Formats: sequence, structure tokens, C-alpha cells
Amino acid sequence: MGKTHKIAVLTGDGIGPEVTEAAVNVLKAAKSASDFDLDLQYAEAGFHCIAEYGTNLPEDTVALLKRTDACLKGPMTTPEEPGAPVSVAVKIRKLFNLFANVRPCRTFPNVEALKPNIDLVVVRENTEGLYSGVEYEVSPGVGIALRIITREACLRVAEYAFKLAEKRRKHLTYVHKGNILRVTDGVFKDAVLETARKYPDVATADIHVDAAAMHLIKKPESFDVLLTTNLFGDVLSDEAAQVTGSLGLAAGANIGDSYGMFEPVHGSAPKYTGMNRVNPTAMILSAQMMLEHLGEKKAATKIEKAVLELLKEGKIRTADLGGSSTTREMGVAIAERVKSLP
Ligand code: NAD
Repeated sequence: MGKTHKIAVLTGDGIGPEVTEAAVNVLKAAKSASDFDLDLQYAEAGFHCIAEYGTNLPEDTVALLKRTDACLKGPMTTPEEPGAPVSVAVKIRKLFNLFANVRPCRTFPNVEALKPNIDLVVVRENTEGLYSGVEYEVSPGVGIALRIITREACLRVAEYAFKLAEKRRKHLTYVHKGNILRVTDGVFKDAVLETARKYPDVATADIHVDAAAMHLIKKPESFDVLLTTNLFGDVLSDEAAQVTGSLGLAAGANIGDSYGMFEPVHGSAPKYTGMNRVNPTAMILSAQMMLEHLGEKKAATKIEKAVLELLKEGKIRTADLGGSSTTREMGVAIAERVKSLP
């Protein structure tokens, strides 16, 4: 028997528990067909904890996360009133210095996309920018948010993105709004260009965020790695996901030097709670990214293959893909396929 990986599982709010259950079943199937083990440790976090604990990320959960190798996180509902607890994802990213949010977007077999042959990855700075959470109401009706951008954080995420581009099609586009945000995006641009000099074999281009939003619709197949700051990356990755077919297929990884958290791009979609209707694939592919990060390449490849085969066959599809299968049916079908793969 190979290594045992300790995984913290946070099931989340809304559709979180349904899609997490599907992903955990797929992980168990991948484990049973491989020579590693998973020690899955469930912990409390999310909107549903606030009434009981006064926080969405209880201290016991933080302690448990620190004892694990990675976290599989279901989507969570974030309250919006000023003073309410900050998003759990944002807290964990900062606590563990998960500086790169990696969100692959690609076309899938038999899934209707706006354009064919899309295969891009959004790499988003994950610890600062407009997600720093520093906001003030300086006088009634006048609000200010600080967009903190540091050279250090930009260099760190740029290094990650260039390394990734080097392994892919060797093309990186960095996205900014330097014509308006001259100081903050000036820091970002300088850091990217400084890093680019270390990777002469990676072709580097820049684009303003508004033009990037347009080109993601017009010619998404032209992008390989898209590197950007926190809020721009969040918006563009949702857009890229929908361009390739459905938010229900878009997985994500939050990567730091010594920890990783894996969660879908989508949120808790509260209106579908308990309906057994949404697509679990984004969560399943997030679990696949986790296995890859943990070095379990063979099992990760099996999960990817199972998803691609199922989509290609087109018999089991959730409503977002034009079908009528349930979350559970799709999850079970992927898990069974993983088990049957050689
Ligand atoms: P959302 O991503 O939850 O849902 C938007 C729409 O996308 C849904 O109405 C649905 O049509 C579609 N969708 C989402 N997931 C899907 C799936 N698996 N299968 C099929 N279709 C799917 O975005 P929202 O409505 O803006 O946010 C709801 C809550 O989620 C908010 O409280 C928000 O703060 C939170 N959120 C959390 C995270 C996270 O935990 N990392 C990320 C984004 C949003």
C-alpha cells in the first residue's frame, strides 16, 4: 500500500453537500482502484455554522485543516452585510497562503460550447487585490475599498503561471487595467515582465480586462494561460466556464507552497439546494486536481478519463447540459466508470 493522504472535507452550503458527496464517492472509487489510501476528515464550515459558532470557520476546523495534506471544499454561502463573517474560501486562502487560484477551462466532448477547441487556464492572484477586504464607509453614502497589490505576491503567482505555461502551449497573456489603475496594475505588470525574462521560451502578451472579456467570447481558443489579479480572475473564470459549456464543469485549485485547497469555480447555488439536480462534475474534477497535486497522477487521470467518456456517451447528463439525470446519478456513473477503468 502506498501513501495515506489526510484530506479535510468541508461539505459547504446549498448544493455543496450534494456535489461533495458525489466527489467523495469518486475519490473512494479511485482509491479502491489504486495503491494509496485517503484519510477523509470531515469538519464544520460555512454559512450554516454562523448561528451555532458565531463564525463560518470554527477554530476546531482550522486546527483540523492544519493537520491535513489538502482540503476538499464544497461551495459555501457568504453573507453580504457589512461586518458579517468573511468568505471561508478567502479566509483559508489567506491562512495557508494559497497564492495561486488555478482554474482550467476547456471544451468537453458532446457538450455545447460557444466555440470549439478551448483549452485555457486562468491563474488568479489569490491573496490580495480587491479581495483584501479592507473597506470603509468614510461618510454616509461614500464607500472606499483598498485594492492592495504587492510586488511580492505578483512575483509569486507570476512564477507559478509561467511554469505552468512552460508545460503547456508556452503562451501567457496577462490581464490588467493599467490604463486606469496605473499604480496597482503598474506593480502587477512590472512583476509579470520581470518574471517573463526568466522564461524566454514562453510568448507573453498583455490585454486590458475589458478586451479580455470580449476576446473570451470572440476567440477563446487563442488563450493558453491567463494570468491576472484577484477580482478580474474571478469574473473571467466564470465567463470562461460558461463559454465552454457550464459552470457545473469548472474545477479549481488554490495552491500554496505547503497546502492546497480544491473547490469548484461555482458557488452554493442556493435555489437548487436539496434538489439533486445540479452537475457534480466541477466538484469531481476539483477532487481530481487534488489527487494530481498529491502526486496520485494515475488515479487523477482515471477520473478525468471517466468524466470525458461519460460526457462523450451523453446518456447521463444533468439539466445544465440539457439532460435530466440527477446529481447522484451522474456522480455514481463517474465513480463506477473509474472503478471499471484498467
Ligand atoms: P453560483 O455559482 O452559486 O450560482 C450561479 C448559477 O450558476 C446558478 O444559479 C446555476 O444556474 C449555475 N450553477 C452553479 N453551480 C452549478 C452546478 N454545479 N451545476 C449546474 N449549474 C450550476 O453563484 P451565486 O448565485 O452568485 O452565489 C451563490 C452563493 O455562493 C453566494 O453566497 C456566493 O457568495 C457563494 N459563492 C461561493 C463560492 C465559494 O464557496 N468558493 C464561490 C462563488 C460564490
